[in-house]
Amino acid sequence: MNYFTRRKGELYCEETAVAGIAAAVGTPFYLYSRKTLLRHFQAFDSGFAGIPHLTCFAVKACSNIAILHLFAKAGGGADIVSGGELFRALKAGIDPGRIIYSGVGKTEEELRAALAAGILLFNVESAQELDRLQRIALTLGLEAPVSFRVNPDVDPLTHAYISTGLAKNKFGIPIKEAMSLYRRAAAMEGIAVKGISCHIGSQLTRISPFVESIRKIRAFVGALAEKGVSVQYIDLGGGVGITYDDETPPQLPEYAAAVRRELVGLDCTLILEPGRVLVGNAGVLVTEVQYTKTNGAEEARKKFVIVDAAMNDLARPSLYGAFHEIQPVRETGAARETVDVVGPVCETGDFIARDRELAGVVQGDLLAVMSAGAYGFSMSSNYNSRPRAPEVLVDGSRYAVIRSRETLEQLIQGEAIPDCMEDGHDH
Ligand SMILES: *Cc1c(COP(=O)(O)O)cnc(C)c1O
Repeated sequence: MNYFTRRKGELYCEETAVAGIAAAVGTPFYLYSRKTLLRHFQAFDSGFAGIPHLTCFAVKACSNIAILHLFAKAGGGADIVSGGELFRALKAGIDPGRIIYSGVGKTEEELRAALAAGILLFNVESAQELDRLQRIALTLGLEAPVSFRVNPDVDPLTHAYISTGLAKNKFGIPIKEAMSLYRRAAAMEGIAVKGISCHIGSQLTRISPFVESIRKIRAFVGALAEKGVSVQYIDLGGGVGITYDDETPPQLPEYAAAVRRELVGLDCTLILEPGRVLVGNAGVLVTEVQYTKTNGAEEARKKFVIVDAAMNDLARPSLYGAFHEIQPVRETGAARETVDVVGPVCETGDFIARDRELAGVVQGDLLAVMSAGAYGFSMSSNYNSRPRAPEVLVDGSRYAVIRSRETLEQLIQGEAIPDCMEDGHDH
């Protein structure tokens, strides 16, 4: 359920016409619906009402501080994976006591910053990370709150690039090896063992892999208790899928009910790390048709719609072959045709959609790339020296630019031509 609707053939975001925003801010731009973001947060979080839990939004899915702030005000925390995300989360006003830190490669500097900030939990992913964290904690005279991210070896039944909980993936600690690490950590000065976490993948469309991993975690928590190690937090990660095309992901109440059922009788605080499911269908990428053209020999004619958004703005189609629905901002009634929607970047892999049936478009038409709120702007880059697109947040009949379009000066910010490269110098 989202608040992108049509009125007399025109695309609206809540009470605001998308074409009007395009006229004011230019294209391409990301557009988010505040009402949809909040609705998704409530729909997710309310499934766990009545049990101790914390919903930590996975910042990497959509990192704008205005959006982080929105979720913080709704009662959420943050799941971060870098020092940059820690900085954003704190800037957005998220209570450090609601921040958890995941990721396989935390640097010395990142660990120190997070420890000094007083975050809730470090999801530690290796023995070496534990040792590094202890050293820093002892230097700072602090105690590091630790969960281990275990790898339950469960097939999430999703795209290979976004499955993380299989034994062959780089993530987590094999559940079989976790016991000795827990016992060692429990005895370590400067380390407080607090919990256990897992995250098996993204865009999951079935509940069974979640259930399977909870069962493995639960059995492991029991084994830990027998060895005298108790945990107070169980973190199930994120991964709930959304509908991009015709997927039928779990309904949120069903997902929550299944999780709750598996946890009955366990005296722990549940942590969840949803990303995509909160923001994916709350955002679109709006782009303008620059040119249309037809290439190829007679029997293999292909029509291209060249737009001003590209793989640097939205990487998912190029990266994962991901599907995004494309809607005209204004319906014209033109006959449908099969086209490739491509960007200006000099890569054949630069496409938004391939062999897609769309109502015919002409130069200047606006298109909305739907379901672009997750891993859209946050994965964008400056490839081909394209300034990154602005982000706009709609609230009813008002909107605010929550990140302005990058300028050309910002594109080269920090770059310099060193003196030694000027004429007259030799090396
Ligand atoms: C990416 C990630 C998430 C969020 O995943 P979604 O599929 O967007 O819900 C949660 N936890 C960790 C550790 C992640 O890496």
